[in-house]
Amino acid sequence: MLSLENGAAMITGGGSGIGRATAVMLAELGAPVAVADIDGDAIAETAAEIRAAGGEALAVPVDVRDKASINAAFDTVEDWRGPATILVNSAGILQVEPFEDFSVESWNRVLAVNVTGAFLCGQRAAPGMKAAGYGRIVNLSSISGFRAGVGRTAYGTSKAAIAGLTRQMALELGRHGITANAVAPGATATPMTHAAYTEETRATLLPMIPSGFIAEPEDIAAAIVFLTSRQARYVNGHTLPVDGGYLASGMLQTGSLSV
Ligand code: NAP
Repeated sequence: MLSLENGAAMITGGGSGIGRATAVMLAELGAPVAVADIDGDAIAETAAEIRAAGGEALAVPVDVRDKASINAAFDTVEDWRGPATILVNSAGILQVEPFEDFSVESWNRVLAVNVTGAFLCGQRAAPGMKAAGYGRIVNLSSISGFRAGVGRTAYGTSKAAIAGLTRQMALELGRHGITANAVAPGATATPMTHAAYTEETRATLLPMIPSGFIAEPEDIAAAIVFLTSRQARYVNGHTLPVDGGYLASGMLQTGSLSV
């Protein structure tokens, strides 16, 4: 039985995929959830879904690249339910280009959302969490932060950076009852991957996943929710792969035992 602090949960990227599943799950556990995303229709839909199921939700527009927008979003949440004691940084973008042709514009765009966004939101959330003497920050890394993949120059780098950012947050905020961890999902069926995965990608990936399937957003949300719970108070500064065993396996992933 997981229990959450009474304060609000702020979920960036809460309008879609993993963020949306996390928002729904946290609301089911009783958290008032601020669904924050750049997509205005998606936050309204997610908040409506939560309310229809009897939960508490507020749709909050945010562009995590923009400090003023982040301040406005947190101000709105604080007026609603006080400081956010849970922050899940799920807003993210994937841009795939060959390394040698990777444009600096794409590089900057990916790092601005995936790294600077998590940094700025964490920085904005910290004073409220410190005042509450309690906080749970969960950042979204990726298996691409551990292993390179074709076209993922900026994405992979951004997700490796999230592991470092998470350690930094854990170190500097830990004394205030705040933990910071990251979850590194493997392949997960969301709008992001729907756009990026071809049938060929899926056929190549599946044999490399010991669990034998591509995750649903709820599989990732379950790990995030654990890390946001009171019970996870001694888990701090880590990046947890939630990947069906993908990172655990290496050579000879399939085939017979005969050598
Ligand atoms: P998703 O379905 O595309 O959801 C991401 C959400 O973030 C979208 O609603 C997106 O809006 C929003 N967003 C983009 N830029 C934003 C900004 N500047 N400010 C606020 N919101 C913004 O993706 P997902 O698959 O759930 O991914 C969630 C997180 O998990 C990401 O950080 C991703 O890198 C990570 N992850 C995903 C997978 C996977 O297989 N799905 C694997 C590893 C890690 P728009 O749609 O309008 O851009």
